[in-house]
Amino acid sequence: MSTAYSHLSHLECSREGTRGPRYDADVVQGTSQVGAPLLARYDLDAVAASVSPAEIATRAPDLWRYHELLPVRDPASVVTLGEGMTPLLPLPRHGERLGVPRLLMKDEGLVPTGAFKARGAAVGVSRAAELGVRGVAMPTNGNAGAAWASYAARAGIGALIAMPVDAPEITRRECVVAGAELYLVDGLIGDAGRLVGAAVGEREGYQDTSTLKEPYRIEGKKTMGLEIAEQLGWRFPDVLLYPTGGGVGIIAIAKAMRELKELGWVTGDLPRLVAVQATGCAPIVDAYDAGLDESTAPADAHTIAFGITVPKALGDFLVLDAVRSTGGTAIAVTDDELLAAQHQLARDEGTWICPEGGACFAAVGQLRESGWLDGSEEVVVLNTGTGLIYPDTVAVDVPTLPKDGAIPGPLR
Ligand SMILES: *Cc1c(COP(=O)(O)O)cnc(C)c1O
Repeated sequence: MSTAYSHLSHLECSREGTRGPRYDADVVQGTSQVGAPLLARYDLDAVAASVSPAEIATRAPDLWRYHELLPVRDPASVVTLGEGMTPLLPLPRHGERLGVPRLLMKDEGLVPTGAFKARGAAVGVSRAAELGVRGVAMPTNGNAGAAWASYAARAGIGALIAMPVDAPEITRRECVVAGAELYLVDGLIGDAGRLVGAAVGEREGYQDTSTLKEPYRIEGKKTMGLEIAEQLGWRFPDVLLYPTGGGVGIIAIAKAMRELKELGWVTGDLPRLVAVQATGCAPIVDAYDAGLDESTAPADAHTIAFGITVPKALGDFLVLDAVRSTGGTAIAVTDDELLAAQHQLARDEGTWICPEGGACFAAVGQLRESGWLDGSEEVVVLNTGTGLIYPDTVAVDVPTLPKDGAIPGPLR
């Protein structure tokens, strides 16, 4: 019986799969020879022989409890700020309102830096530093940069970050306070990516850790899928909705659930995976509707749900495959709809979520109305971050009283 901390075996091209070469997982890698994301593969027989769900249940409540299924080889390489094992909250009042009484929310607003990006950063930075990387470089819509800057500081390595000027303002401050080298770009995330890609080669020991251009961010985000299964008693929900930008989270959750099935820890079908976007930037939804395997960047991408403003995702084909192979769907909602859903959820359940999460609740309502969801199904919404990152999503229009004034009588 092997007691390795990780049972990572090799990397595989996400396009070529087992037909393509095996890539060495113990050197710094970018994309595959055909330019596609690389996926980490594990010796799952060894995992099954060395650990059980019952043993995992005794471990600390963070994402490292799944370390056999993560790429970090040496426990001493783990860079952590306490990420993972976020609540899976029942939402009875809001579920009743939407006609989906078995509605649950996986709330990623509670991780360090306030968005689920901390998961990808914790695992990605840990593994990069373990392999000798001296600095990480990436474009971001804000939240990923804040997370990677924070974990890079924790690891004692550098961070070079570029983000659109329109990205949430607080995420700039998070990068600056953690000592990152930060640039604002008058453009979208793709423009920031071109600038970073051109600069990274000039910095000794830096790695381009753009979305899906290194293999381990997916592995960190995979833990959302592992946790959901564990929190449900090692089973899957019927449906899972995910606010989709670069698509890493939905790809990663599908990967997690397939690994759990292969391990024999969970049986039954994967949940129907729903990719949710905003109508102002919905390339995955457009491709899904058109029956295509890849997306085309829309002109003038714009939505208040900034984390999902990704006009062209490197892993678009993987998102579309995750959706189609699970019998899921792709749906876009307007900014007005996602903000209304965000506000209604806060009134119903007392939780201020990010606008990206709001998009998923708006989508639940629409899918229930169309009959795609039936009222008996167990539905999990992934809320990817806290509303605190987006203070401008709530207008405050209340009276200011003079100090010798009086509060008016009860409102009618
Ligand atoms: C990055 C981000 C997303 C999109 O995540 P992907 O996994 O890249 O699709 C959604 N919501 C928030 C808050 C984000 O920061």
